[in-house]
Amino acid sequence: MREIVHLQVGQCGNQVSAKFWETIAEEHGVDMDGIYNGTDDRQTDRISVYFTHADGGKYVPRSILVDLEPGTMDAVRSGSMGKLFRPDNFVFGQSGAGNNWAKGHYTEGAEMVDSVLDVIRKEGEACDCLQGFQLTHSLGGGTGSGMGTLLLNKIKEEYPDRILSTFSIIPSPKVSDTVVEPYNACLSFHQLLENSDEVFCIDNEALYDICFRTLKITNPAYGDLNHLISSAMSGITTCLRFPGQLNADLRKLAVNMVPFPRLHFFMPGYAPLCAAGSQAYETLTVSELTQQIFNARNMMTACNPQHGKYLTVAAVFRGKLSMKEVDEQMLTVQNKNSSSFVEWIPNNIKVAVCDIPPKGLAMSATFIGNSTSMQEVFKRVTEQFGAMFKRKAFLHWYTGEGMDESEFSEAESDLNDLISEYQQYQDATIDVAEDSSPEDEEEGQDREIVAA
Ligand code: GDP
Repeated sequence: MREIVHLQVGQCGNQVSAKFWETIAEEHGVDMDGIYNGTDDRQTDRISVYFTHADGGKYVPRSILVDLEPGTMDAVRSGSMGKLFRPDNFVFGQSGAGNNWAKGHYTEGAEMVDSVLDVIRKEGEACDCLQGFQLTHSLGGGTGSGMGTLLLNKIKEEYPDRILSTFSIIPSPKVSDTVVEPYNACLSFHQLLENSDEVFCIDNEALYDICFRTLKITNPAYGDLNHLISSAMSGITTCLRFPGQLNADLRKLAVNMVPFPRLHFFMPGYAPLCAAGSQAYETLTVSELTQQIFNARNMMTACNPQHGKYLTVAAVFRGKLSMKEVDEQMLTVQNKNSSSFVEWIPNNIKVAVCDIPPKGLAMSATFIGNSTSMQEVFKRVTEQFGAMFKRKAFLHWYTGEGMDESEFSEAESDLNDLISEYQQYQDATIDVAEDSSPEDEEEGQDREIVAA
């Protein structure tokens, strides 16, 4: 079996993950004591990707819970799923990171990182054939962002050939009012560019808009946002957890989705959108689901895919639906919107169908897009970063922890480069150097793709 080790770091990382584990435990028929009470063999066929089957028969999430302060993890431990996790896998400090990336990455977090690595090693050794890691964290705070990315560096060093994927929660002023979040987010993105293989960009700005506009929740709480996130995470991981062929492990997903190593930031989408505790009122058809997952309003990253082009797309449909109909509907979308997909990657849409629907729904669809419009998110965050950095506002909190200003400038220019790379591939055409007419020959001689 190809196991995944899950890491949940910081307040957001732990809160989002608690919801994720609750959702997938239920899908696999595992109750909050870790006891399997399901009825369908497909629930346990690949359950060991995420759960360890412990000696007393219990299924235990292969999760390591990390925080620099005890509060959030205490809440998990004393909550309904407190007995599900392995007690030794709770690693926490007392100091907190005070929304300061430098504390998470260089000081407080660095002091605690070895004790987390010990637990990671232990989990790794117990695996039959570890496929990789997934980290859930926010980019706007101090622990999940600073220490989370430090952990990625260390894991990459120790497990260079395993896949690292992250569910990264991007900050939005609509949801949080901590002014230094753009600093923390840019410093984190700089690390994720280098050390993560696949980043699912979950944007609090988009989640807030979905709650407000679509679900009519006037004052969304974290519970509302996390409900949406757990639906998407459950959808994204469906192919890893249930029998099937397409994108069945983290590496296959990366191979299909990442045409250039730096462009590994994905936009997730989901349909049908429904509020926590309520179910979708109408039953959607395959055609409606397909249209919705391509709709900007269903995207969990606040950028409009119509402003860019898709490099690659993967979609996962769940429920009792006909593969033929799904294929037809996906083809229709593709044909109608052919200009939204780069023409120089043929067959860049992959579709999987899993006949087990999520709880409470007859069918659902999850979308994973690698779109050049992702540059809109990076622009938003770097603009907020740049405004403060130009005046060196709040820098002393970071330099006070021993950080050098140059790391800020490097992060900023790295992200600006990334934005240009997205633009370059957005403008690229299918012309190849051998075929090009003499007039074009000066441009991009031996490049396969010629920037427009
Ligand atoms: P850390 O504990 O130091 O990693 O800090 P936090 O995780 O609290 O980071 C703050 C950022 O995370 C802000 O952008 C918050 O809006 C966001 N955040 C905190 N908790 C949650 C949560 O439960 N759900 C979501 N979606 N965002 C959260």
